[in-house]
Amino acid sequence: MRILVTGGAGYVGSVCVERLLAEGHTVTVVDDLSEGHRAAVALGAEFCIGNIGDSALLDALMAKARPEAVLHFAGSTLVGESMENPLKYFQNNTANGIALLQAAAAGVEKFIFSSTCAVYGEPETVPIAETAPRRPVNPYGASKLMMEQSMEWQAQATGMDCVALRYFNAAGASENFGEHHRHETHLIPCLLQTALGQRESFSLFGTDHPTPDGTCIRDYIHVSDLAAAHALALRPGISGPFNLGRGHGDSVREVIAACCEVTGQKISIEEKPAREGDPPELVAAAAKASAELSWKAEHTDIRKIVETAW
Ligand code: UDP
Repeated sequence: MRILVTGGAGYVGSVCVERLLAEGHTVTVVDDLSEGHRAAVALGAEFCIGNIGDSALLDALMAKARPEAVLHFAGSTLVGESMENPLKYFQNNTANGIALLQAAAAGVEKFIFSSTCAVYGEPETVPIAETAPRRPVNPYGASKLMMEQSMEWQAQATGMDCVALRYFNAAGASENFGEHHRHETHLIPCLLQTALGQRESFSLFGTDHPTPDGTCIRDYIHVSDLAAAHALALRPGISGPFNLGRGHGDSVREVIAACCEVTGQKISIEEKPAREGDPPELVAAAAKASAELSWKAEHTDIRKIVETAW
């Protein structure tokens, strides 16, 4: 297929582009490199630097690439930043997403969107199914939910296959590409940077959550498994929301232990108050992706996931 990938120079996007090329697709990447890196775009993909909020650029790109599918990874992803600068999130994640959807309306059969478990907010029950109420508790989740809703109505009106892949916690790396944020806030890279001596100590946010060891539980899903799900979602007739997680949670303390084991380092930990807006437990019910996409996470052990990141 001819595929347009936005955000293909970023973490999940770069691993997905690598996968699509390996499967023989023709890939055009658009990325403004505000977060991504030029060197993360796999050889074999066409690359265009630019922001999808630029309508002239978008029109030219659509005319040149003539995509049959659009995979939309570009966006802003930090919960904390979204609390301080909500409009950045509604602009980048909602407004720019709608502009892309609009540009795709003529001719694109499949639109796959990088959504997030943050659309659920603080779930009443865990594991979380796709049918759980969507009540985001921060602008990041709200901006992604508004994009999901735009896609749902557009799919109903036009018959376009619109897929929302709700990632839980993306982690790990492929052979060639991995996580490289300019300002790192995520758990596993922060721990590994501490093990490498690039940070003095690691801040553990929250030790009195209502979980067995008091720290937050998350569902860490390997980035290559996310890429595999995107490739499967390209098949005709696949549409709607899918949770992408292992269906298994690890606490922050369990991830710390895995990082110490993999790196062979003792990581210096400073216990800090909980981060605002961190739900205690987010774990996916992944049965729908298994049944409809024939997808399942291949990387099931947190130590193995950390190893690939290390
Ligand atoms: N976390 C932490 N210290 C850090 C980064 C993260 O204790 O330096 C905790 C965070 O509070 C959350 C979990 O690790 O409970 C996962 O955080 P991350 O930012 O990786 O992902 P999120 O679930 O917030 O999207």
